[in-house]
Amino acid sequence: ERVGFAVIGLGRIALEQVLPALAQCRLARPVALVSGSAEKAALVARQYGIRPDAVHGYEAFERLRDDQAVQAVYIALPNAMHREFTERAAAIGKHVLTEKPMATSAEDCAAMIAACARANLRLMVAYRCQYEQANRAAIRAAQTGALGRLRFLHAANLQSNGPGPQWRYSRRLAGGGALPDIGLYCLNAARTLSGEEPVEVSAQAYSPPGDERYREVEESMSFTLRFPSGFLAQAQSSYGAYQEKSFRLSGERGSLLLEDAFAYRGQRLRLFRRDGEQGTEEAPQLRPRNQFALEIDHMARCVREGRRPHTPGEEGLRDQVIMDAIQRAAERGRPEPIPPVPAGIEPR
Ligand code: NAD
Repeated sequence: ERVGFAVIGLGRIALEQVLPALAQCRLARPVALVSGSAEKAALVARQYGIRPDAVHGYEAFERLRDDQAVQAVYIALPNAMHREFTERAAAIGKHVLTEKPMATSAEDCAAMIAACARANLRLMVAYRCQYEQANRAAIRAAQTGALGRLRFLHAANLQSNGPGPQWRYSRRLAGGGALPDIGLYCLNAARTLSGEEPVEVSAQAYSPPGDERYREVEESMSFTLRFPSGFLAQAQSSYGAYQEKSFRLSGERGSLLLEDAFAYRGQRLRLFRRDGEQGTEEAPQLRPRNQFALEIDHMARCVREGRRPHTPGEEGLRDQVIMDAIQRAAERGRPEPIPPVPAGIEPR
């Protein structure tokens, strides 16, 4: 029997990626929906073979408690709402897979971890790239010494946003602009590729003057993380530049390029090394798989086996603490130390 998920929030990521992936998962299946629009939810339920009585509004979320088919929730709501629905899920005994960024403050992340730990429930943050094949091959190459000592990462997550208001431009709902939304992928890649935690950051933010969208949140964030070994990770994230989602990792004996590293599909990995006098180039061929399905199946396995997810809440908290330091470095215009992850933060 596959693990039953309730999808919370029927926006773009839920409709275009999560639900289609859930339908093709080997260990998980969609069994309930929670949405602000009954009409939309009914339509989606029909499409995925979900019972009409397993469709609820946000206020009726707690009705999932008595639905034995629902073992876990997939939270696909604006960032600032992840905490509330994680706590509500924990209170009714459901495991939580939440979208990234985990929340909008370290305090919220810590409260989410505490709520799930108290209830002995799994909590996972949807860091899909850590489940994607080419990213995993890159991490393996970096970690097994194939590139020698790691020196530099150059990562970009750039896109050109259209006009129009949305929650992403609200500081309260999003927690920030390009950094928490897409720069987070560069940050998380720097940590997973190096296997180290950064100690210092310098950063610059930019928002085009007069652009209504960027009155509260940054349009662009560029940052450099310094790691204990001397490894430096440079990253650019922006809502205002032509699309690019790639990284280049350079070691002393080799490098790798992962094109479309952070995209939903189409990753292209190349490895460059020296063989005697000659440079060699290798392009490992990986069978394309749906990374959202891999991610959700991982959570389903953790639920079944009572195991801690590969990307647990602590991973989201760690990134939040670093993002807070990045924002401070940009505001103050000087390098900032990265503080240790706060222990035992009291929930609000
Ligand atoms: P979206 O705006 O398309 O969807 C958000 C959903 O939340 C909508 O259905 C909306 O009706 C609902 N909602 C409920 N209360 C709301 C409120 N007060 N204000 C605004 N919307 C409200 O957003 P999205 O792109 O689907 O993003 C949802 C989450 O998924 C975010 O945390 C985002 O960071 C994450 N996300 C992850 C990926 C990924 O690749 N893993 C990609 C995109 C988005």
